Amino acid sequence: MSHPAENRTLYATNQTSALSKDDLHASTVPRRWRTALAKAYYYATYPERQWYHRRLAAAGRAPISVLVFHRIADDGANSWTTPTRNFVEVIRWLKTRFEMISLTDLQQRLCDGSNTSPSACITFDDGYADNCETAIPLLIAEKIPCTYFVTAEPVLTGKPFAHDLEMGHTHLAPNTLDQLRTMKSDGIDIGAHTRTHPDIGRLADPARLYEEIVTSRNDLENSLGDRVAFFAFPFGSPENLTHQAFRLAKRAGFDGVCSAYGGWNYPADDPFHIRRRIVDGPPHRAKSWAVLDPLRELCLPHFAYCPERSPSLEQSL
Ligand SMILES: [Zn+2]
Repeated sequence: MSHPAENRTLYATNQTSALSKDDLHASTVPRRWRTALAKAYYYATYPERQWYHRRLAAAGRAPISVLVFHRIADDGANSWTTPTRNFVEVIRWLKTRFEMISLTDLQQRLCDGSNTSPSACITFDDGYADNCETAIPLLIAEKIPCTYFVTAEPVLTGKPFAHDLEMGHTHLAPNTLDQLRTMKSDGIDIGAHTRTHPDIGRLADPARLYEEIVTSRNDLENSLGDRVAFFAFPFGSPENLTHQAFRLAKRAGFDGVCSAYGGWNYPADDPFHIRRRIVDGPPHRAKSWAVLDPLRELCLPHFAYCPERSPSLEQSL
């Protein structure tokens, strides 16, 4: 098991990384300037990007964006907390411009090889109790599909995330099983996000990998009394993904797995690997990633799973 301090550092590193990429890689520039630059970039490029996005839709090639939030609350506890008013603004903005679809709908369109509608999906990672205050009720009221990925151990034990405790955030409670059951009965899809939120990219032990991806999913299914169809990698950057984990998830019966390093999902893409982007924070971040950005797409990293099958890797699983 990785040390909590490593988790905290990794978590902070990944969040910071996501923000700095969003903010034009200007890590030496104060945050307020980076935010202003990112906002200016969004407003300057949005009209042309929207036009291009709609042109692709008319040709049946509309890419689908999948957005990731973590925690919606107003205490500004950390960089993965989005103020409630920002979330509400983003959801209302999305609803008037995009068809809001589920991950299953997304996969169907990829399999069909055609998508004529600008579309977007909402997902949450980790499983914070605060999300049940406004965010989830809003999605339910607006009939917006959502897949809510939860880390099993905090939910099953009631203990806060290790990375939050390490940073002194003792009040950030995980969801309870009752909350998840209520969400599920209201149409929210519950997904798996490992047992302890490790960096899968650093897990070399096949038994530990199985425990984090499959056993924790089974525990969640038993506790909720329903199938858990999707898996989301913690952190979600290419270095946090492995071919072994992809194959294990596929073999274990998951419908799909999610990364979080950005990118759009195009018709005829592989439906098993769903590309997402973390959009915690100011509204322009979510709005900008909802619309195709060909320039940004060129700069994105890429992870292609299932290359040449390796007998030694197969045996190790
Ligand atoms: Zn996570």
